Amino acid sequence: MDGVRRTVLVVEDERVINDALAQRLRAEGYHVVQAFDGPAAVSLAAESRPDAVVLDVMLPGLDGHEVCRRLQLDRPVPVLMLTARDDEADVLTGLAVGADDYLTKPFRMREVVARVAALLRRVQRAAELAAAGDTTLVCGDLVVDTRRRLTTVAGRAVHLTPTEFDLLVCLARQPGEVLSRTRLLAQVWDWPDASGTRTVDSHVKALRGKLGAPRVRTVHGVGYALEVVGEGNSDG
Ligand code: CA
Repeated sequence: MDGVRRTVLVVEDERVINDALAQRLRAEGYHVVQAFDGPAAVSLAAESRPDAVVLDVMLPGLDGHEVCRRLQLDRPVPVLMLTARDDEADVLTGLAVGADDYLTKPFRMREVVARVAALLRRVQRAAELAAAGDTTLVCGDLVVDTRRRLTTVAGRAVHLTPTEFDLLVCLARQPGEVLSRTRLLAQVWDWPDASGTRTVDSHVKALRGKLGAPRVRTVHGVGYALEVVGEGNSDG
């Protein structure tokens, strides 16, 4: 992927903010495409196939959550959501529709740049791991195919967002082992400090809901562990 210019789609109806984001990201070497409302964002994403999306929640036409949901249905892409306030419900909705990270307005440009870079590094690292042949992780009746990015539980396909999938891969590499929230934040989000641990909690909650059963165990004050459930658990 080296030398390939990455495309970032910026979606924000406030032109001053949109232009400022676009200008800064272009200065960082990205190819930037801009959309100013929800429907335009969906069609521009299909046309330009961005590597990452910076997406405001408050948009005319379709709001950012609906845009995010449609983008993930079409083709999984990392999304950094911009929210007007630090509203937990807003953040949870964003994560539920497949956003990977979020920033509260007002934000610093350099923070947007750092988070976009982190999202792109994650995608690249996941592709490299898959290419390296580390392809199938089996934990009881849970099977994770890292090359095709598919998950099955007892033979039934489970649809996960890109972030939920990366989180699961991280846990499934060390089944039964407790991974701290800070470590998950660093490994999955490539985010060095502990400021985003709530993001980890939200994604774990969503992942747990989709996998069913008590597969993701919370170790209070420490972190999370993936439990082996189903076939292969007879040594009990
Ligand atoms: Ca807006």
